[in-house]
Amino acid sequence: MSPHDTRPLFAFDNTYARDLEDMSVPWQPARSPAPRWLQFNRALAADLGLDGDALASDAGLACLAGNAIPDGAQPVAQAYAGHQFGGFSPQLGDGRALLLGEVIDRHGRRRDIAFKGSGRTPFSRGGDGKAAVGPVLREYLMGEAMHALGIPTTRALAAVATGETIFRDQPLHGAILTRVAASHLRVGTFQFFAARGDHERVRRLADYAIARHDPELRAQDGRHLALLRAVCERQARLVAQWMGVGFIHGVMNTDNMTISGETIDYGPCAFLEAYDPATVFSSIDHHGRYAFGNQPGIAQWNLARLAETLLPLIDTDEDTAVARATEVLDAFGPAFDREWLRIHRRKIGLQGSTGTAGNDEADRALLNDYLALLHRHHVDFTLGFRRLSDALRSPAVNPLAPLFGAGGAELASWLARWRQRLQDQGTPPADVADAMDAANPLYIPRNHLVENALDAATGSMDLRPFERLLAVVTRPYDERPEDALCALPGSAEQTEGYRTFCGT
Ligand code: AMP
Ligand code: MG
Repeated sequence: MSPHDTRPLFAFDNTYARDLEDMSVPWQPARSPAPRWLQFNRALAADLGLDGDALASDAGLACLAGNAIPDGAQPVAQAYAGHQFGGFSPQLGDGRALLLGEVIDRHGRRRDIAFKGSGRTPFSRGGDGKAAVGPVLREYLMGEAMHALGIPTTRALAAVATGETIFRDQPLHGAILTRVAASHLRVGTFQFFAARGDHERVRRLADYAIARHDPELRAQDGRHLALLRAVCERQARLVAQWMGVGFIHGVMNTDNMTISGETIDYGPCAFLEAYDPATVFSSIDHHGRYAFGNQPGIAQWNLARLAETLLPLIDTDEDTAVARATEVLDAFGPAFDREWLRIHRRKIGLQGSTGTAGNDEADRALLNDYLALLHRHHVDFTLGFRRLSDALRSPAVNPLAPLFGAGGAELASWLARWRQRLQDQGTPPADVADAMDAANPLYIPRNHLVENALDAATGSMDLRPFERLLAVVTRPYDERPEDALCALPGSAEQTEGYRTFCGT
């Protein structure tokens, strides 16, 4: 910061701490003994209207390591509950996180600035309130990759190492992630107050959520039912987008599902390699509750838990409230199906908006048949779609064949059906191929690459592999010869039995 510049680092305006002051606990971050930068997101800082140079300074580091509270911040630990793997915990809350405050970004949107890993709070239960370098960088990378894929997500403004040793099954370097979110309102936030029979607080929370995420509903009769509908629609869209890139969240507990429709809490998440809807990577998901193919059903289940908290606001007569909420929840399936079809149609170059083209069912069958082929022949999900455009560009050779092994004949007959459908559509193949490349990423955070990058960062504090991977996955659609290796699936031994862990 120049000596003349007395502008605060953040122009905070903290509605959560101010308007919902009884729904969180004012709290301070723990001190970091020897903070140092791991990563700073200058582009995001600019988008937030922040002074990147000022923030990248020692003063900024002190703030983002919890050693100085930036002017205007009102750090609070937020209360929430949640269903974890189906079982209800009435009190979770920010056990290792703090909401610092809110800023208005360059697009006029209100964004939360929050810490993760900033020490114990009244919600910590047995935990130490800390986070380790590996999981913090993992969340940083995954969030930025999702953002680059066009998927709503919380993002990382910074990751700093605290200089503290924390203990898991081994000693690890501690770190703090600075997370940016449209809000940190979760399904579990509503559950916290509903579980206590505190319908008045649920009402204030719902009205706050409406003001923040759905202001056009404010004056509407039945606004709480409308809020439920809006959240269902956002989540249907979000999960359909996850399915379109092979993303497995891994821990879709109700405390990890936002009201805003952003992806949140990157713990054991990972991207599919060989397509199989039963894929689970999380070491604690023993029964496959959060398997790839279960995600839409789980999202709907979580939304039903949200609906339960809103019932008293929807109608004073319980039966009427249940009937209205059920109707909204029942619309989740069709909304998801519509989004899924829209997204997957783009992936294979088909036009047609659902309901109008008259060939929804045929297109859905074409897509499902392709997915069945990918499944049967253990084809990489990402490349299985990305390389389809090459089959259009060079119809004489079949660039997909190597991916399908013994499935060549089945592939050929599917390709013939697909080409026929494209021909009926009448768009020039070259145009279709280019449009497909803009819908099918080539570079995703592949598990072995993520592990290599995190190993280097945690083992020898060498951030270069991380930064290189970050640069690759944040430009996911443009093929670059120098990044060819990053597009390849892991070897069998890297992929077999790959397990992810919660970031605790
Ligand atoms: P998560 O698995 O990160 O979504 O966290 C679930 C719950 O456990 C939240 O209430 C977290 O605040 C809490 N939690 C996770 N890790 C820790 C930790 N190291 N210390 C205290 N609380 C934690
Ligand atoms: Mg969580």
